[in-house]
Amino acid sequence: MTLNRQWLLAARPHGMVGPDNFAYHEAPVPTLEDGQILLRNRYFSFDPTQRGWMMDAPSYLPPVALGEVMRAGSIGEVVQSKHPDFQTGEWVQATGGWQDFAVATPGQGPMGVTKVPDGVSPEMMLSLLGITGLTAYFGMLDLGQPKAGETVLVSGAAGATGSIAGQIARLQGCRVIGIAGGEKKCAWLRESAKFDEVIDYKSESVADQLATLCPERLDVFFDNVGGDILEAALNHLNLRARVVLCGGIANYNATEPVPGPSNLMNLVINRARMEGFIVLDYLPRAGEAIAALSAWAASGELRYEVDVQEGFEHIPRTLQRLYTGENFGKQLLRLTD
Ligand code: NAP
Repeated sequence: MTLNRQWLLAARPHGMVGPDNFAYHEAPVPTLEDGQILLRNRYFSFDPTQRGWMMDAPSYLPPVALGEVMRAGSIGEVVQSKHPDFQTGEWVQATGGWQDFAVATPGQGPMGVTKVPDGVSPEMMLSLLGITGLTAYFGMLDLGQPKAGETVLVSGAAGATGSIAGQIARLQGCRVIGIAGGEKKCAWLRESAKFDEVIDYKSESVADQLATLCPERLDVFFDNVGGDILEAALNHLNLRARVVLCGGIANYNATEPVPGPSNLMNLVINRARMEGFIVLDYLPRAGEAIAALSAWAASGELRYEVDVQEGFEHIPRTLQRLYTGENFGKQLLRLTD
């Protein structure tokens, strides 16, 4: 192959992100400098935060520039190496972007450049052992600090992050309640992920269900969604509850500034703590999370799903699946051509 197919950021989104925000482009395959490797991308990770990277606004990473290849986590095969530690044929996790070929510099990049270990599939590397698994692990254990016997609520519970976060709390001996959209996801949470209770926010009132399911109140709320669900949960905080702000996907495609919860005084009354975090700060401790998550998965105590789309042409549309809830498990796309 001599051409490098790419998807460039063409227009910053207003409202729902979609294929119109991207432009197809063909570039020459890049050449290497010493210390670099050339990756042929095989898998892309889709992450709700990509919507934020497309905006020209201050955030934890610089915005993707208009005309630039869309930033994305990836796994690629080394097809050329000018780095002594990386050999042709090895598979590597990097931030390769939406293109066939990416240049990576080991030791650099927001998510680092890591070899896929023997025995680990690319799907597992980008889900359970990737950003979403690490987010669940550190968000739940470091910030949520669940203790046996406590009640833990997770929103976005059937997703890549939420499903792992809730199961980690279950493995600490907690009673876990999940909020997700639709019967298929709720059934999976009950039957496979072994959540104690599930609320289908698309067909039930979250406020009413919380009043029924946790009269003894919440000790930990791991929130991926924000908006009305956050507000409903804040009405059920226990004394010294921990609210972990992992994400707020209900608001990512909003066209107007979103009002905050009207009931933050519940934090005061209950001496509760609400704290946000970015998983990139925890990457130096990734080994700890990977060891624990691998062991739980190997013993069958922790389950995860991946949703693998196919085809370069479907990359922009695949991103949208995260915000419509079409994804069932960690959203990935594989290039087979
Ligand atoms: P995911 O949960 O696998 O997929 C996104 C899910 O969000 C969808 O499947 C959908 O589930 C739900 N959703 C979409 N729009 C919604 C809405 N308006 N209201 C309620 N739910 C909605 O994605 P993920 O990668 O694991 O990310 C989950 C959250 O974690 C996101 O908020 C993301 O930004 C956050 N995150 C944070 C960090 C960090 O460092 N803080 C790192 C990674 C991810 P339903 O079908 O159930 O609606």
